[in-house]
Amino acid sequence: MNKIALEEHFITPALEPHMRAAMPAVPPENAQHLIELMHDFGERRLAAMDSAGIDIAVLSISGPGVQAEADARLAVKLARDANDHLAAAIQKQPTRYRGFAHLPMQDVPEAAAELERCVTELGFVGCMVNGHTGGIYLDDRRYDPFWERMEALDTPLYLHPTDSVVMPHVLQDCPELVKPTWEWNFETSSHFLRLLFSGVFDRYPKLKIIVGHMGETMPYHLWRFDSRAALIDRKRPLKEAPSFYLRRNMFVTTSGQCDNVPLLAALSALGNDRVLFSVDYPYEDSAVAGRFLDAAPIDDAIRAKVSRLNAIEVMNIEQ
Ligand code: MN
Repeated sequence: MNKIALEEHFITPALEPHMRAAMPAVPPENAQHLIELMHDFGERRLAAMDSAGIDIAVLSISGPGVQAEADARLAVKLARDANDHLAAAIQKQPTRYRGFAHLPMQDVPEAAAELERCVTELGFVGCMVNGHTGGIYLDDRRYDPFWERMEALDTPLYLHPTDSVVMPHVLQDCPELVKPTWEWNFETSSHFLRLLFSGVFDRYPKLKIIVGHMGETMPYHLWRFDSRAALIDRKRPLKEAPSFYLRRNMFVTTSGQCDNVPLLAALSALGNDRVLFSVDYPYEDSAVAGRFLDAAPIDDAIRAKVSRLNAIEVMNIEQ
């Protein structure tokens, strides 16, 4: 079945050092191979897409990108350059590629302006943000103007994992659990839940936040969020139960999760309109991800939604 995938990464020469510094502990020759794949917008990327039945890939910088840049003015420039680099690649393959904006979240007005430029001038279909920026999470009130702009543009934000600000004590001396194995999952789900419990979705009810890795375990936890949160005397009361926002403002992708159990849990918890196919190229195998969804025990109407129809709806993709 033809698919649209939306956690598919590339890198630019200028942002390669930011990515190498944050790269998981993989052997140098593997890292070099991944980086070469991320520089390529031609044969190798298209062949991987074809192996999974992906006709459109939404491309994004492999994090943390400019969010790890200490010089905020340089971050603004590098983000703009990265988006122009991507726009040029899309122009060469306009039927196969779309783009997510890379944003200098250190500077909120600049981030909002660059998002608008990318959507209205470059034709991008949303943005990807790699977790916190220098320890500041997106529930901070400084981001309110950014959320206003996102709502006005009716475009989604893909909340991608990044490293914890400080390694949690429980993970120290346990290298098996850091980064994608477990740390990023907790870091990213917690980030989304900060938005929820701080009332961002009451203030900006139309926000569309996409979370990868089948929802970073959140679809499994809805009942417990509701039952435990109801017992807390909160200074920041919400209009609705937590599960309401998880079903209204969150979309999840299958990136890096080729397993029927979390797929069925996500569909069951969030609904058939809320789950979207992705690979997490080049960190995951495109053919494996494609075969997983093609063979998943769901009916073909739901498979079509997960494969592409939900992506078209969420990102307003014109074909
Ligand atoms: Mn990724």
